[in-house]
Amino acid sequence: MAQKSFKYVILGGGVAAGYAAREFAKQGVKPCELAIISKEAVAPYERPALSKAYLFPEGAARLPGFHVCVGSGGERLLPEWYKEKGIELILSTEIVKADLAAKTLISAAGEIFKYHILMIATGSTVIKLTDFRVEGADAQNIFYLREIADADKLVEAIKAKKNGKAVIVGGGYIGLELGAVMKINNFDVTMVYPEPWCMPRLFSAGIAEFYEGYYAKKGIKIVKGTVAVGFTSDSNGEVKEVKLKDGRVLEADIVVVGVGGRPLTTLFKGQVEEEKGGIKTDAFFKTSVPDVYAVGDVATFPMKLYNDVRRVEHVDHARKSAEQAVRAIKASEEGKSTDEYDYLPYFYSRSFDLSWQFYGDNVGDTVLFGDNNPESPKAKFGSYWIKDGKIVGAFLEGGSPDENKAIAKVARVQPPVENLDILQKEGLSFACKI
Ligand SMILES: Cc1cc2nc3c(=O)[nH]c(=O)nc-3n(C[C@H](O)[C@H](O)[C@H](O)COP(=O)(O)OP(=O)(O)OC[C@H]3O[C@@H](n4cnc5c(N)ncnc54)[C@H](O)[C@@H]3O)c2cc1C
Repeated sequence: MAQKSFKYVILGGGVAAGYAAREFAKQGVKPCELAIISKEAVAPYERPALSKAYLFPEGAARLPGFHVCVGSGGERLLPEWYKEKGIELILSTEIVKADLAAKTLISAAGEIFKYHILMIATGSTVIKLTDFRVEGADAQNIFYLREIADADKLVEAIKAKKNGKAVIVGGGYIGLELGAVMKINNFDVTMVYPEPWCMPRLFSAGIAEFYEGYYAKKGIKIVKGTVAVGFTSDSNGEVKEVKLKDGRVLEADIVVVGVGGRPLTTLFKGQVEEEKGGIKTDAFFKTSVPDVYAVGDVATFPMKLYNDVRRVEHVDHARKSAEQAVRAIKASEEGKSTDEYDYLPYFYSRSFDLSWQFYGDNVGDTVLFGDNNPESPKAKFGSYWIKDGKIVGAFLEGGSPDENKAIAKVARVQPPVENLDILQKEGLSFACKI
């Protein structure tokens, strides 16, 4: 079987891989030293676009429009860019075996890849309802969204089931973004989730009230406090109904499920130290195995700001951890040191004409400020999280770039707060004067 050797191999061709490639090129990489191996058929792209502009009925985003690094305002790395830099893009190639001791990866087709340094950037996979043996969950037109191929199938179904009924299972990021985009596609949308409010892992009840009210105003029905326990399908095998635990039955032409992800670490089980469900790294994304790094969704890394170790499944961290790992690899080759990763968590989402940003940690008491009335023509509101007398997190809907910078600064500086009522009255202006 064919065997290829590289000095550096990035396993996975997603967000982290693309940003790592750019950093390798910046730091200096010789032709044929670096390879990216990906089971996807396309060069690295900005994954968040898949649940947003990729699904728009008009003016939809399509490749090559959203290859990395456009998402952070950088240059778009087209397949030609990799060629020019002598970086080998090995696409449509799934690695099915990794032997870290022998520094070898083996693909589904039996190709062997040897490396000197490996960067694991395999990201996450979706949790499926079939994993829990939910009755009828293998029916057609039940979709999950992780890769561009998944999004393409959904686009086809949207065209085929024009103006139909969509049920969205899950009230997290994917649920909220897909609920909106299916409505924009003129579907009759119902969202179902078990929690008392949407995005409970981040949103406070006050924040969620705004989004649920706004979605209701757009005509989206929200069913809370229950879960999908089964599906029925028609004679073509296409989903027809969603059965809920509380006995209700919802008609559906399309179901989109967003019930969470799982980091793709199985290839390395028993070969590398793990923690909190991810591959344990230090502040340079080095794992417990020499010459093996892990970045993006799969890495459990030291969060210096909170004196804690965490795994973060967000695009900003995927970009920054990849760059940090490459800087660390290059610095160690030159016998130099590099700064420790000092990450400030940053998450965002967009749906309809809404856009929010969050920075820091969502622990402690919350103070909601501003106009969070979903009926307002231009609602703008936010929230602070206060722990041990200091602001540790800040959220803002509808902020300008300067205002978003201000809430980021507050979350980083962690100013003390004495009176929560005064903070509530000052609202955003408190952040703007820090
Ligand atoms: C639809 C969607 C919308 C999102 N929206 C947002 C958002 O608005 N804001 C935000 O902060 N985050 C968002 N995220 C999360 C963000 O995209 C991820 O955190 C980020 O992509 C992680 O980057 P990564 O490089 O670690 O993994 P990924 O980008 O997932 O890349 C992993 C790559 O590895 C490949 N791979 C995996 N296993 C193998 C194997 N065995 N062999 C070969 N290749 C393999 C995969 O095919 C993929 O190409 C979204 C995610 C999704 C799915």
